[in-house]
Amino acid sequence: MSQVLFFDYSKGRNPLRGIHTLIERSGFEEMLPNGGSVAIKLHMGELGNIRYIRPVFVRAIVDIVRDRGGRPFLFETVASYPGERDTKEKYLNTAVKNGFAEATVGAPVVITDDEDKQEIIQISNRINECELEWAKVPSLLLESPCIVVVSHVKGHDLTGFGGALKNVGMGCVSSETKRAQHFVNMPQFNNGDCDACGKCIESCPTGAIKLVNETVEREVSECISCGTCLFRCPSHCWVWPAGSKEKLQVYLAHVASAVLSEYKGRIGFVNFVQDVVPHCDCAAPSGQPVVQDVGIVFSLDPVAADKASLDLIDRAPIIPGSTSVSPPDVLGKMHQTDSLVQLVTAEKLGVGSLKYEMVAI
Ligand code: SF4
Ligand code: SF4
Repeated sequence: MSQVLFFDYSKGRNPLRGIHTLIERSGFEEMLPNGGSVAIKLHMGELGNIRYIRPVFVRAIVDIVRDRGGRPFLFETVASYPGERDTKEKYLNTAVKNGFAEATVGAPVVITDDEDKQEIIQISNRINECELEWAKVPSLLLESPCIVVVSHVKGHDLTGFGGALKNVGMGCVSSETKRAQHFVNMPQFNNGDCDACGKCIESCPTGAIKLVNETVEREVSECISCGTCLFRCPSHCWVWPAGSKEKLQVYLAHVASAVLSEYKGRIGFVNFVQDVVPHCDCAAPSGQPVVQDVGIVFSLDPVAADKASLDLIDRAPIIPGSTSVSPPDVLGKMHQTDSLVQLVTAEKLGVGSLKYEMVAI
């Protein structure tokens, strides 16, 4: 059983002080390397998303690391699909606009892409259907003696829920490895109501879709499974393959397991259970919150941190009018999947425990 510390927003206390108390009481503060670098891994939000982690929270973590003599830096990888974060330059611009710059967070912001040095990690530990054999992880991250994984807990169109495991399994790997995971979610064309409007063709970033004799055709080898066609089609002609949401979660857990098993330093997981919106930080916009803001969770175990976050969401008052579904797993139900698949798989892989003891601070 793992320990999860919880700072409860309903008690009306200062959350910045709460972050400090969480890291101090967990013992993680003692693990921060005096003089060593500390990677603070987080998603800094797509441009136009307003529900990502607040920079002031990250600043609080940076200050704790500095006070212990560590050298913090914010770490993130580029997105594998088109947008305002798919190159280092664009991501750094977006980060600044979203409030993440050295002047505000007190630490350099480092974004890596596939040109940076990567380690190839074999995915040899498998307990479920996962065809991926390896993952590429930026060396900069693996070489850091300490990592703080800072995650915004929210919904996700494909995985139902996104927290610490998703931040590691998808957020800490190369674009190539992200795409390899998303390959299971390649949208399928369902001719149905297609009126050949061309919107999917215009929006496809790789030019994989063409109109041939008034019929939509997609070249599979050119598709990067970004899902843009599915989101843009006004007639819902593109659908996710059956079972692919669960399969992506299985892949995600395997990649997260591989990354964490290779990492030789200290690692802690901070989950912000607030702004619990239906869609992820890469969506702009990501929707309205479905439950009241809950609080902050800290654990050395990402499975326990995510399970505790899901349980807290289940117990939180639903905001009237925000959703028609009821607990458990509101976020999973909103996206027609079971969010627990990623956690159950990760537990079976030995990443952590679904059983936890929650200690309120
Ligand atoms: S076909 Fe659809 S999923 Fe594939 S690259 Fe084009 S827009 Fe993205
Ligand atoms: S966007 Fe939809 S309706 Fe329009 S061409 Fe593509 S599949 Fe057909």
